[in-house]
Amino acid sequence: MHTTFDFHGYRVVVAGGSRGIGRSIALAFAEAGAAVSVCARGAAALVDARDAIAAHGGTAHTQSCDLADVRAIEGYVHDAAAALGGIDVLVNNATGYGFHDDDDGWNAGFQVDLMAAVRASRFALPYLKASPHASILHTSSIAAFHPRRNGAPYAAVKAALSHYTTSQALALAESRIRVNAIAPGSIEFPDGLWDRRRREEPDVWRATLAKIPFGRFGRPEEIAHAALFLASPYAGWITGQTLCVDGGQGLMG
Ligand code: NAP
Repeated sequence: MHTTFDFHGYRVVVAGGSRGIGRSIALAFAEAGAAVSVCARGAAALVDARDAIAAHGGTAHTQSCDLADVRAIEGYVHDAAAALGGIDVLVNNATGYGFHDDDDGWNAGFQVDLMAAVRASRFALPYLKASPHASILHTSSIAAFHPRRNGAPYAAVKAALSHYTTSQALALAESRIRVNAIAPGSIEFPDGLWDRRRREEPDVWRATLAKIPFGRFGRPEEIAHAALFLASPYAGWITGQTLCVDGGQGLMG
């Protein structure tokens, strides 16, 4: 889809952007003219993401980084800012997908979904303060708004991330930095969570599909379009919000 947004001159960092929703967000910003940096752990997907970003003609920077490691985050954010010449938009997109209600599940969610967003924001702050159109986007989930029998850690850390979005927006307003979150519904793409569940847990996949009033899973591009809007001047008076992008899935409880 040809984008109507113009991000020429913007420098965009996507933390956790080599696959799925993060990759779509990175490519959407690149297509709209931005210089884009992406980090993830896996090298192969990063190479592919860098080639896809560079194909749009702008600066493409990728770096391996484990967002569960505070020193690695610090190094990545500074390296990305150096490669792009600053940071205008920070997208905190990674997840540990902590579905199991055990210490590993809680730690994965706490470190990757929540603390990585807190830490990347902290390290990016000096660059964002120097930007004339700074914003932070967090990827939350509609899981943040509903109790669930399975996946309590995931839902709880996403709820914390959405609440942090409000406090962070308030704290950064005086620096003219907007902070928002996107809460996707269930998004399907090759080798992603819902593609795997379709193959491995077809009952769960079918039950979830039945709860999406539009009758299909969402697509990563539909989250990317919301990210472009929230980072754009069209959303210049929007801060501290979590925008559900879910085809009405959240309305079904
Ligand atoms: P995904 O397919 O698992 O991709 C996650 C991306 O983050 C990958 O690039 C991954 O690369 C990177 N990543 C994961 N852990 C990392 C770490 N410790 N350090 C650095 N990079 C890391 O995820 P997704 O399904 O696209 O979801 C993206 C976001 O949307 C997440 O925050 C998720 O909670 C949220 N969300 C997704 C859905 C959905 O249905 N898919 C629904 C609601 C919300 P590596 O693994 O190589 O590091």
